[in-house]
Amino acid sequence: MPKTENVMQQLESITMELYKKKVKQCSNEELYEAVFELTKTALDKKKPITGKKKIYYISAEFLIGKLLSNNLINLGIYEELKNGLEAQGKSLAKLEELEPEPSLGNGGLGRLAACFLDSIATLGLPGDGIGLNYHFGLFKQVFKRRMQYTQPNEWIENPSWLNKTDTTFTVQFGKKKVKSRLYEIDVVGYDNGVNKLRLFDIESVDESIVEKGTDFDKTDIKKNLTLFLYPDDSDEAGNLLRIYQQYFMVSNAAQLILKEMKEKNYDLHKLNQHAVIQINDTHPTMVIPELLRILTTEEGFTMDEAIRVVSKTCAYTNHTILAEALEKWPLAYLKKVVPQLVPIIEELNDRVVKKYKDSRVWIVDENQRVHMAHIDIHYGFSVNGVAAIHTEILKQTELNPFYQIYPKKFNNKTNGITFRRWLLSCNQELAEYVTSLIGEEYKKDAAKLEQLLGFENDKKVLNRLEEIKQEKKQQLCTYVKKQEKVELDPNSIFDIQVKRMHEYKRQQMNALYIIHKYLEIKSGKKPKRPITFIFGAKAAPAYVIAQDIIHLLLVLQKIVNEDPDVNTDMKVLFVENYNVAYAERLIPACDISEQISLASKEASGTGNMKFMLNGAITLGTDDGANVEIHELVGDDNIFVFGKDSDTVIRHYEKADYVSKTFYEKDPVIKEAVDFIIGKQAMACGNKKSLERLHAELLHKDWFMTLLDLKDYIKVKDKALNAYENRNRWKKMMLVNIAKAGFFSSDRTIAEYNRDIWKLH
Ligand SMILES: *Cc1c(COP(=O)(O)O)cnc(C)c1O
Repeated sequence: MPKTENVMQQLESITMELYKKKVKQCSNEELYEAVFELTKTALDKKKPITGKKKIYYISAEFLIGKLLSNNLINLGIYEELKNGLEAQGKSLAKLEELEPEPSLGNGGLGRLAACFLDSIATLGLPGDGIGLNYHFGLFKQVFKRRMQYTQPNEWIENPSWLNKTDTTFTVQFGKKKVKSRLYEIDVVGYDNGVNKLRLFDIESVDESIVEKGTDFDKTDIKKNLTLFLYPDDSDEAGNLLRIYQQYFMVSNAAQLILKEMKEKNYDLHKLNQHAVIQINDTHPTMVIPELLRILTTEEGFTMDEAIRVVSKTCAYTNHTILAEALEKWPLAYLKKVVPQLVPIIEELNDRVVKKYKDSRVWIVDENQRVHMAHIDIHYGFSVNGVAAIHTEILKQTELNPFYQIYPKKFNNKTNGITFRRWLLSCNQELAEYVTSLIGEEYKKDAAKLEQLLGFENDKKVLNRLEEIKQEKKQQLCTYVKKQEKVELDPNSIFDIQVKRMHEYKRQQMNALYIIHKYLEIKSGKKPKRPITFIFGAKAAPAYVIAQDIIHLLLVLQKIVNEDPDVNTDMKVLFVENYNVAYAERLIPACDISEQISLASKEASGTGNMKFMLNGAITLGTDDGANVEIHELVGDDNIFVFGKDSDTVIRHYEKADYVSKTFYEKDPVIKEAVDFIIGKQAMACGNKKSLERLHAELLHKDWFMTLLDLKDYIKVKDKALNAYENRNRWKKMMLVNIAKAGFFSSDRTIAEYNRDIWKLH
């Protein structure tokens, strides 16, 4: 029996059982549930991935995105189902739209964890993710009066990928006790078995305590513990709740890991031979003292024995050098939330203090704050950065005192993305065409994409690449018109910056370019071709300047799009509620990928890789993984600008960057900056917000926007002009796609396994 019939027959019997209807007669909602059940049944039949040693990837975030199409692809039944449904006049894409998106992450760090789970399973490595089951996850973003407002994102509904288990643990916060419940989501590898994403929750969470927007009583942890991802931490109650969440996550993780070891009759003294724990950023750091606590108080270990084995089991990934993002919890907070860990953390610190005079490597500082990363570095066996330049900066600058002590612990693992989601699923047209050129092998061995270089001078191939890009732009226009009520020109150049809103990522610099271009067009200097500037980003609710930048961009959207003198030559669009599903629509439609962080500040970036893979050309600084993209594609296939990381680091060391001098000496900069508080902006903007942003740029500009603005304008204009040499541009697209193989998370995970996990 052919497979197509098989999958469709199964679906027919499901719809018959559920609704007494044939597939053809079902509504999309009914079909969605039926396809969901079909997928779950197929997942159940897959073999669990097993082995003598297992990786536990602990992370406060897993930005998994929608799962239906990815599961179908990895199960190998996507095509059959899509074609089978089409034959019945139904559309799988329409069903995919009905799936709610889980928002269990903020941005890159959480998305990385999700890509890693996909690759771990695809490589057939035994490994689970461990995290929290946030009921509302990251907030849903809505715009009102050109400002960001937040709402809870209700993603848990029926049917759900979450499987409730019988596993529960007790977690103690001082004298308070809570009972946890484990939920699991299947993670199926591409043509491989299943691992699990294991999410802990408490049953007493009360969703009704959410008031207007996303406000809630932060003190009642039995009701709020897993309500939201990273609640506002601008006040003490928010910080304490974050510590509650972190300890809840790692205490459950530690109990689960030890339970699994015991079930397999492994000797806990040899824990490191059967388990490796990857600590994703510092949020799960307390797993180290928690394991030590359990082993010494419940398993009869001496502290020396416990430290020896735990230190050989835990490995740490650093994701940032931004000082404010390196967690330092006041010891007083830890005493309030997790008093039982405090003597252990103090002992860990005592051992360090005895050994090293340099107070920069101590765990507890003179202000009685606990440096979480320092626990990981001293008491883990591996410290990795996430791109070559980032790891070098850690070794030479930020973590240099530690590098001096432990040179062998430091290693680099350049981030990656799963090509199943970021090519096969989001750009089926391109994936199919690539397959027709070089075969299927690249789907399992991404390096094979390089074979595309053989078509560099093949007009037919280059034209088809352009055609596919055009199709994706057209599809985005259709979606955006429905979703945002904005009409875009598919023949314009799509210049896209989507990522979290943060000053170091410098969306404000892009805004200043837009102002500059607007004024240029107003004065009669028209671009060769219309340009569309697209943004998508959420800002942390407590991050005031980030909200101001969103406001400025929405103000610019109004000014530009409503001005008949310019709106045929340029348009601005800030999409509402940027998330993974939106990324999957935007990225394939992009011509110019904006990766313009201040050099040294973006640890890696992964958005840059997704864009490259989909044939966009990077406009970026030599920062994070852009450096490696630059090396791979060469000077001719990327647009690089701005001061390099050494120069930037020197400015910080000498504290000699003064933004105002750039503003005063250059009329182009001054004109763009002052537009922010000019008549036009004030007419539709919020005075306080725009004045605050203007003052920030003029008097602080911590991320040196004005330092690079002139060069940015120059190189961006160069990129826009280069687009007109169509043949050259299409070759650039091809080279970027061909060279993207290095950024497959399969490669990243193979390296983690080779150098750190050593599973088999
Ligand atoms: C990939 C991704 C990110 C990370 O983007 P960067 O440009 O690397 O910061 C953030 N959010 C979503 C939804 C993503 O898919």
